[in-house]
Amino acid sequence: MPPKWKDGRRWCPDCAAYLDPAQFPARSVSPKRPDGLGTYCEHHQKLRNAARREHERNTRGNGSTAMIYGSIPNADREAAEDRRWFGRTVYYLGMRDPVPGRIAGVRETDHQGLQVWVEFEHGLRVSRSELVGVALFKALYLAFPARDYQPPEQQPPKPKPVPYIQLQPPNSWEVGT
Ligand SMILES: [Zn+2]
Repeated sequence: MPPKWKDGRRWCPDCAAYLDPAQFPARSVSPKRPDGLGTYCEHHQKLRNAARREHERNTRGNGSTAMIYGSIPNADREAAEDRRWFGRTVYYLGMRDPVPGRIAGVRETDHQGLQVWVEFEHGLRVSRSELVGVALFKALYLAFPARDYQPPEQQPPKPKPVPYIQLQPPNSWEVGT
């Protein structure tokens, strides 16, 4: 993570850029937040809030915050290439219908476990007005298509349940609140 302040401007991790501090929401001052400003700029904080609300609705209120946006760090891209996952089709299962996308990065941390960046061709609708192009999910919410999976528009009128291969078994994940 780059330094929080540089030349009187403040870092937004989602912009991956330094911005005018007036673009950040005010927060209460605390030891963790000595400058009294939110981590993300107003625009990205709104996007994150909308995504979290939508995701919670779609995952029946289990309180998970699996979805965030941002720019993909090079190390995450390379990690996906190392796994030979880069560019592979994957389905996000957090919405009512699975949403196809392509793997654009992978990261693994002790705290969050395996997470995957997904790039959506047509965007992922997270609110009435917001479409997201790329988002980071816990692997629990993603599935590779099974070999015989047909995209929805090619399915017969009465589609069978879609078979999925989970990237990881759900019980190996701690769902945060
Ligand atoms: Zn931003």
